[in-house]
Amino acid sequence: MIQLETICALATPQGIGAIGVIRVSGERTFEIVNKIFKGKDLTKVDSHTIHFGTIRDENVIVDEVLVAVFKTPKSFTKEDVVEISCHGSDYIIRYILKLLLQNGCRMAQAGEFTQRAFLNGQFDLVQAEAVADLIAADSEAAHKTAMNLMRGGFSNQLKELRDELIHFASLVELELDFGEEDVEFAERDDLKSLILKIQNFLKKLIDSFDAGNVIKEGVPVAIIGPPNAGKSTLLNILLNEEKAIVTEIAGTTRDVIEDVLFIEGIKFRFIDTAGIRETKDVVESIGIERSKDAMRRAEIVLLLSDNQSKDEDFISDIEEEKVIRVLNKIDLGENHQLVDYIRISAKNNIGIDTLKAAIVEKAKTKKRADTMLTNLRHYEHLMKANEALGEVLNGLDFGITGDFLAQDIRLSLHHLGEITGSITTDDLLANIFSKFCIGK
Ligand code: GDP
Repeated sequence: MIQLETICALATPQGIGAIGVIRVSGERTFEIVNKIFKGKDLTKVDSHTIHFGTIRDENVIVDEVLVAVFKTPKSFTKEDVVEISCHGSDYIIRYILKLLLQNGCRMAQAGEFTQRAFLNGQFDLVQAEAVADLIAADSEAAHKTAMNLMRGGFSNQLKELRDELIHFASLVELELDFGEEDVEFAERDDLKSLILKIQNFLKKLIDSFDAGNVIKEGVPVAIIGPPNAGKSTLLNILLNEEKAIVTEIAGTTRDVIEDVLFIEGIKFRFIDTAGIRETKDVVESIGIERSKDAMRRAEIVLLLSDNQSKDEDFISDIEEEKVIRVLNKIDLGENHQLVDYIRISAKNNIGIDTLKAAIVEKAKTKKRADTMLTNLRHYEHLMKANEALGEVLNGLDFGITGDFLAQDIRLSLHHLGEITGSITTDDLLANIFSKFCIGK
């Protein structure tokens, strides 16, 4: 185990609450906390026990607290850990943290507790990252996905496959040691089938990325229809009813403002169709191109017609399973030719509940895998690993020499290792864990 300084931080949110929890982790945890805690001697109590006492600064009683004790290695960080539950006042919390610092702790950096857990082998990198996802999860589906990853998800299987590949790599490297003598320890056919097996596994994960992102970012919905059908009116009424959160999603080619709303606990993200709205007077083909693009990215397409015309021609090559047909402006009179349409009036709030139920239904019928890729970093390495494995396969087909083969295998192993953290650099770790909040 790597022994580092003893760190402390507030683990609960800043601000006033019923209780605040301060975490301490490291080699000197019990020694330091003992100095300010008047109660039992924490070096003498059992792991996983809770103790009542007071926190004191000389003769001043700072607070009455409960102290939870976790002894190495049976703690989150695998180090000695104490969690002090105090009253959730800013003043008390700052006071206790100050006392801990004065007695030898240092403030934890963002994500440092989780980073230590990772470094001490509590879990792999995928699982550590899932902890952050779990905290950020704001819907049932996002919670389920993060929980699955945290509990091992795809990393265990990935590790097994990587180990098998390492076995082959060492056989190939062994051949190299024999130099001139034309020997083959690594059965080429077996290697090939292993690589195909790994690629198959990777491809499934890679394909799940889009679905995984849907969970994290919200099910993408596009409202499509000819100018004046009532698209903006419909969007507004949906957003007003559900108290939409408008989020700015940075990091895309431009900073798009997207509307996110929850209906029955499912997160939906309305694809920015502002461009389509603007095309009323512009060449119609641009509008259609944009609509097609929005439809391609959407998982649900609300195809909106107004009452006057059958607007199917507006979009020709539509993917049927995505579409919900909606007839708007029924207050102006009925068009009985249009069957299979959900009939609404966006302006007069008629039929909106039925439409919402249909949207939820569509989102629920979509089949989703248990294990889904939600992390761009994993996605990138899986793609690279897959590519490198493709090179190994090519090499095998062309019968290239062992040294080139070994090189390609090593590259694949490298990318696979970077996903779970078997191979890491300090920069990578710093980057990942800095995204956590302090105290986690
Ligand atoms: P968009 O171009 O598809 O975004 O359409 P808008 O939302 O801007 O609506 C075009 C016009 O139709 C506006 O004048 C709206 O007030 C009107 N409109 C929208 N929904 C209804 C409705 O249910 N009934 C009636 N009578 N008018 C509507």
